Order: sequence, then structure tokens, then C-alpha cells
Amino acid sequence: MKGNTMNTQTISPKAKVYVFDSIEDYVTHVFLIEKKSRFYLIDTFCGSDSMVPVLDTIHLSPQQKDVIVINTHFHWDHVWGNCCFAGCTIISHEKCRKSMETHWETQLDKNRNYISGKAEKCLPNLTFTEKLTFCEDGIEIFYSPGHTEDCISVFDHEEGILYVGDNLEKPIIYVESSDIPAYVKTLERYLRYPATQIVSGHTLGLTKKDILSAIEYLNFLSTGHPMTFESAYAQKIHLQNLGQCKV
Ligand SMILES: [Zn+2]
Repeated sequence: MKGNTMNTQTISPKAKVYVFDSIEDYVTHVFLIEKKSRFYLIDTFCGSDSMVPVLDTIHLSPQQKDVIVINTHFHWDHVWGNCCFAGCTIISHEKCRKSMETHWETQLDKNRNYISGKAEKCLPNLTFTEKLTFCEDGIEIFYSPGHTEDCISVFDHEEGILYVGDNLEKPIIYVESSDIPAYVKTLERYLRYPATQIVSGHTLGLTKKDILSAIEYLNFLSTGHPMTFESAYAQKIHLQNLGQCKV
């Protein structure tokens, strides 16, 4: 494990990203959106210690606001800090809650090195199947299967920011679900949102061109079109993705 360092960046007047680099190979993002009477927190990284800077920001707010936590999918690097928000609304897709429940202990055992503080089991307490909208804040949360079958995404209609979880990532997307047609459908849906910014769990500054490249990659993957990647990391993930497609 690398040293646990974190920096924050402002991505819009109302949204901030916490960038963690303690996991090898990629950085991981947690997003905090501040609206009139609520904070929306997208993912909670690796445990209670990693959520300290987020809680500091929330506590600095002069007005007490509710915190709505959104888990983009069940993977450990996005949910272990949930325990800091046990009294809050924690939203996920219904499949995400089920997968978290099933895989909590195994994910913990396999990735124990990355626990930052406490990672007590804390499951989402509000689940949905297709879409959930906080109308007065312009926050739309929708089902977007792809990277895994439980993925959800968030579109902030006021700020024009599309948060895509792990469905987009550079240099290469990570395919864990074998349902490639559903993944392509999700990416095509992203193209229809009037997004001025696209951000994901591990990559910032994504563009519509990145969405189109991901669609092309998935199409090549499903037709068996041969591909090789220059970077050893991308090639490794590509081979894993190929294995996933054969399931
Ligand atoms: Zn993931």
C-alpha cells in the first residue's frame, strides 16, 4: 500500500472531488455536492479515516444540512466509509445492496490492507430499480449497468455534471459484468445527457469522445476483434475483460 495521501479539487462552484491515491495503479474519487438544504456524497472510499476531510467540510457548513450518500456500485473501494453515515440516507441500486451484503466479508478479507480506519458493514437503506430524482436539487440518479450489473450514475441538471461511477475509466474500462449489450446501452444513454463535465470513480475530465471509444472497445471485445495495449496495466485489464466476456 502506498502512503495514504489525498487532495481536493473544486470541479464546479457546488461540487468538490476528494482524490485518494493509496491504492496501486489508480486514483479513486469521492464527490461532494452541496445544494440548498442537502449534501450529496458520491461514494465513500476505504473507511472512516478517509471520510474525515469530507466530514470536516460538511461540519464547516454554517447551515445544518442533511447528507445523502450515493453508492455507485458495491465494490469495496467505494463503500467502506459508509459507516460514518449510518444515520443518513444511503442510496444504491437494489442489486448493489444485495451484492454488498453477499460480498462484504470476502471483499474485506481480500483487500484488508486498504482499510483506512474502520470499515464496519453499513448497507444502503434506500434502494431503487430505475430512477430516483431529487427535484428541488436537480439531482437525477439512474440505473446504469455496465462495469458491474448494479451500477448507478448521477446527473446534476443544475451544474451539467455527469457522474458515471466506474463505467468510464482511462486508460481502459474495467468489465466485470458479462452483459456487454447493457453496458453499451448505458454508454449510449450517457451521450443523451447535456453534460458539460463527465467524471468517474477513477478518472476526471472525461469527454463524449471517451464514451465513444469505450463503446468501440466493447464492440470489439464482443466480436473478438484482436486488440493490444502499449501500457502493461491496460493490457492486463484488457486480458481480464476478455476473460469476463467468455463467461
Ligand atoms: Zn468498481
